[in-house]
Amino acid sequence: MNIKDKMRKRLKLSRPSLRARARPPKHRSVCGSQFSAANLPGVLQLQNCTDCGHVQYPPAELCGACLGGTLIYKETACTGTLLAQSQLHHSLWEYFKRRIKRAPWPIASVQLDVGPVAIVHLTELDLDTGDRVKVFSHSDASRSVVLIAVPAATDITTPELRQAVIVGMQLDKSAERLKGV
Ligand SMILES: [Zn+2]
Repeated sequence: MNIKDKMRKRLKLSRPSLRARARPPKHRSVCGSQFSAANLPGVLQLQNCTDCGHVQYPPAELCGACLGGTLIYKETACTGTLLAQSQLHHSLWEYFKRRIKRAPWPIASVQLDVGPVAIVHLTELDLDTGDRVKVFSHSDASRSVVLIAVPAATDITTPELRQAVIVGMQLDKSAERLKGV
């Protein structure tokens, strides 16, 4: 793509009508795309090494513990402990810019009970370090899976209950056109 095409594309992106249909970042590595596909049906599916049983996140081609090459996705316990949290006050992505305008966007790192640490979107601002949480996967408006953490007492056993959390966070597809922003 030459400079002229690039500029044209940028101008297009700045059109309000297109900004209204902004999507979250969709670019993923091959492993990231496999993670998205594996997580479509369940609550949380992570890579399990068939050689040593290591549970791995983020997804990779080889096991981080034994370098084994056979990793399969399995439904994994979704409980964990909040390690740290932060709030985004700025984003370069239109999708999040519009949400951050309304309120800072909470994100956190969670130590999953099965081993790995995950970076997640957080539903609540008033959670503290050490609080127990549950983490589930959500296929976002770009059809890529992101992880969401909710307080441990939240019932997320059915897709409907998980969808209610997503709607509350305005991450569902019907909230793509945020009003008044
Ligand atoms: Zn292994």
